[in-house]
Amino acid sequence: MDLELSPLNLPSDNERPFVIAGPCSAETEEQVMSTAKQLADKGCHMFRAGIWKPRTKPGGFEGHGEMALPWMQQVKQETGMLTATEVATPEHVEQALKAGIDVLWVGARTTANPFAVQALADALQGVDVPLLVKNPVNPDLELWIGALQRLNRAGVKRIGAIHRGFSSIDQKLYRNTPMWHLPIELKRRYPNLPVACDPSHIGGRRDLIAPLCQQAMDMGMDGLIVESHCCPDEAWSDAKQQVTPDVLDFILDRLVIRDNVEMTESLASLRKQIDEMDDNLMDLLTRRMRVSREIAAYKKEHNMGVVQTGRYTEILDKRGAQGALCGMDSAFVKKIYEAIHEESVRQQMEIINK
Ligand code: PEP
Ligand code: MN
Repeated sequence: MDLELSPLNLPSDNERPFVIAGPCSAETEEQVMSTAKQLADKGCHMFRAGIWKPRTKPGGFEGHGEMALPWMQQVKQETGMLTATEVATPEHVEQALKAGIDVLWVGARTTANPFAVQALADALQGVDVPLLVKNPVNPDLELWIGALQRLNRAGVKRIGAIHRGFSSIDQKLYRNTPMWHLPIELKRRYPNLPVACDPSHIGGRRDLIAPLCQQAMDMGMDGLIVESHCCPDEAWSDAKQQVTPDVLDFILDRLVIRDNVEMTESLASLRKQIDEMDDNLMDLLTRRMRVSREIAAYKKEHNMGVVQTGRYTEILDKRGAQGALCGMDSAFVKKIYEAIHEESVRQQMEIINK
């Protein structure tokens, strides 16, 4: 299903990504105003702060709710910045809109729940407000797209996505693994959908904000939403990943935005070479599958099982090591061979069970 999109029309500086910055949570009037003023002084156009906070465990700071909304109004009046906050229920939508919040976003935990998203869509029926949908916590692109579709079908046309990484059992460097191929696939399917990156929730650490912002730009992301706090160490939530407005300004200043100009001849010729190689790869794969089907016929005749694990391990090890010798990551080569093997087994099963 297609998305019916209108431009988000969020303020940004010439050819630069749009930036939404502000603390994870609105904690006190002083913290909100002090952070907002510093950000506005650095030329920031949009201010974020969580009013309702989804917390993994009870007992943490869950946001002040409605009580904090006047602070956001004050930010708007005194700095001219647009304000943005997360909404998770129809009541949040109603209260945020009533308070004149300019941009809404749907959090990762909410996107993962179609009932909650549908309730938000019903509450937003006929409302013209820019809305950003974070990816669900789990790496499920269809669930992300489904949420965008539900909200879009309710008539929200100024809609965009936020990539905030995905939770995974084997986290190493990141709080939420970026899995860049997912936002990139989203952009491939919906080229006009603006996608912003949230380096704060991907990284979970201050020192990862700068490299993640640059990576997001290199991946062609359209905007950034970054957590910034006047006193990060004292933040009531997500303290480790927040940076001061000063540091954020320093990071944004140094971002290299690469041109997406048309192809030069040399690039076109390199692409042509890649296309030819891909043709050859497809041809080889087709031939490999053909031989694999012949093997299936042999196995059937001799009453052998489809998978011979010894042979499979031998292929994975041999090609993994060969890949490493050729300057490739052996885990990458193994992944390719796992995929080839899976398809090969599928084709062999067809023949054996015929
Ligand atoms: C947030 O932006 O503060 C937040 C709770 O993010 P997420 O939904 O990505 O966890
Ligand atoms: Mn946060």
